[in-house]
Amino acid sequence: MTTERLNNYVDGAWRASEGAGSLAVQNPATGAVIAVTPFSTPGEVDRAARAAARAQVAWRRTPATERIQYLFKLKALLEANFDDLARQITLENGKVLDDARGEMRRAIENVEVACGIPMLMLGDFSEDIARGIDEYMIRQPVGVVASICPFNFPGMIPFWYLPYAIATGNTVIIKPSERTPLTMAKAFQLLEQVGFPPGVVNLVHGSHETVNALLDHPLINAITFVGSTPVARHVYARASAAGKRVQAQGGAKNPVIVLPDADVDMTTKIVMDSVFGNAGQRCLAAANIVMVAGAEKIFRPVLAEAAEQRVVGFGLDQGVHMGPVITPQSKTRIQGLIETGLSEGASLLVDGREARVAGYEEGFFLRPTILDGVRPEHTVARTEIFGPVMTLLSLDTVDDAITFINSGQYGNMACVFTSSGAAARKFRNEAQAGNIGINIGVAAPMAFFPFSGWKDSFFGTLHGQGKHAVEFFTQTKVVVERWLKEWSRTF
Ligand code: NAD
Repeated sequence: MTTERLNNYVDGAWRASEGAGSLAVQNPATGAVIAVTPFSTPGEVDRAARAAARAQVAWRRTPATERIQYLFKLKALLEANFDDLARQITLENGKVLDDARGEMRRAIENVEVACGIPMLMLGDFSEDIARGIDEYMIRQPVGVVASICPFNFPGMIPFWYLPYAIATGNTVIIKPSERTPLTMAKAFQLLEQVGFPPGVVNLVHGSHETVNALLDHPLINAITFVGSTPVARHVYARASAAGKRVQAQGGAKNPVIVLPDADVDMTTKIVMDSVFGNAGQRCLAAANIVMVAGAEKIFRPVLAEAAEQRVVGFGLDQGVHMGPVITPQSKTRIQGLIETGLSEGASLLVDGREARVAGYEEGFFLRPTILDGVRPEHTVARTEIFGPVMTLLSLDTVDDAITFINSGQYGNMACVFTSSGAAARKFRNEAQAGNIGINIGVAAPMAFFPFSGWKDSFFGTLHGQGKHAVEFFTQTKVVVERWLKEWSRTF
């Protein structure tokens, strides 16, 4: 059996890529090659950009009320194919089916919110700003938008952008992660069924060279990016230098502080799900678990027990809590960081460095690991591990914990577990992160709120989702208007 080499979807048709380079996509639970991602060339990016620019001329003149009819149809198709898409996510990413379903639910939520565009993109009007003069502001699309996406949410992240971008009158090029391209390949079959005019939605597979061609292309007006911080920085700098509007979401190292008055059962369950869900490969995964004022005496044993009990395996199998990590290279990198933690003085409360899953011996599995005795200055307290590793720290006071959090490079999320309103309020006010969780372990904003990263977790001004998305995908035009004649009945 030959493995499918994926096609691009450009200008309303599926097209084989002429790129010489490619990547074999592996099911991380079995190691089996399930597809081949072609690395599209700058010439192919050019054809997609031209198609999108041509389509945008008519698309932006299509009334918003008509544009959202396509989104209603898309929502219905996504619902009808919900389980198929979720299974595809598990097969290419490894996360368990329940997590994949949660991801698709979040994707669809963005389509639903974007259906409100006729209200969301209303302008402003002021009558008589001077005698006989009116002034108003209207929102117009920015033009062609390209979205560059990571491997860890192959179904959701493109939908942080696509629905808002097209609802506001832009046309779109999606570049999925080369490691998880199949979910978008399926989603674009549905987008094709929706019947968008050719060129409104485009899919271009590829890697670095493809990304750089998107960043440089003169017909592309805005870039959204989600991925690691070094690449986010590169994307932000290069696309801004080319005069584009950019939002680039980067990596994270999310701290969670636990006070001794936190509810033990709830906190343990939520923290475990946050650290080990999606095998720790979430930008909102809790990473540094900071025990405050002796809370470790209560939580150390229960966290260890819960970690030991987590069932690791193939995400489509019943009763599995955690799947594999994305690649063998990723597994080796994570094992290396655990060794670094040990060499710097941490100890293993739970050792998950090796995992054998019967029937899946070729999979890229790790078990949950808890590194205890981590200090704020340790490498593992500062580095995004992006794997199933909890780093456990102990600090004396809430102030110490906030100081530690605010000294970090990233600002994606920070959470507190407590039953004290005063402590939670102080934390909410002072912790330097864009998304705050109070007795919540994955503070992922609903689609009508912005996904607010700070510091090295975000480069740009306007974030994804909600009203920020509407502002990002539109440019304001202000009109000052005077008519020389007063209206009269006789012409
Ligand atoms: P990545 O940075 O390796 O890749 C992201 C995208 O950038 C891919 O499409 C890839 O093709 C492209 N790319 C990679 N290297 C490039 C280069 N040198 N030049 C041009 N393009 C390049 O990220 P990943 O491993 O796919 O995803 C994991 C990272 O994403 C983690 O750091 C995670 O925290 C982050 N992430 C952040 C958020 C957020 O909302 N802040 C959400 C999800 C993931």
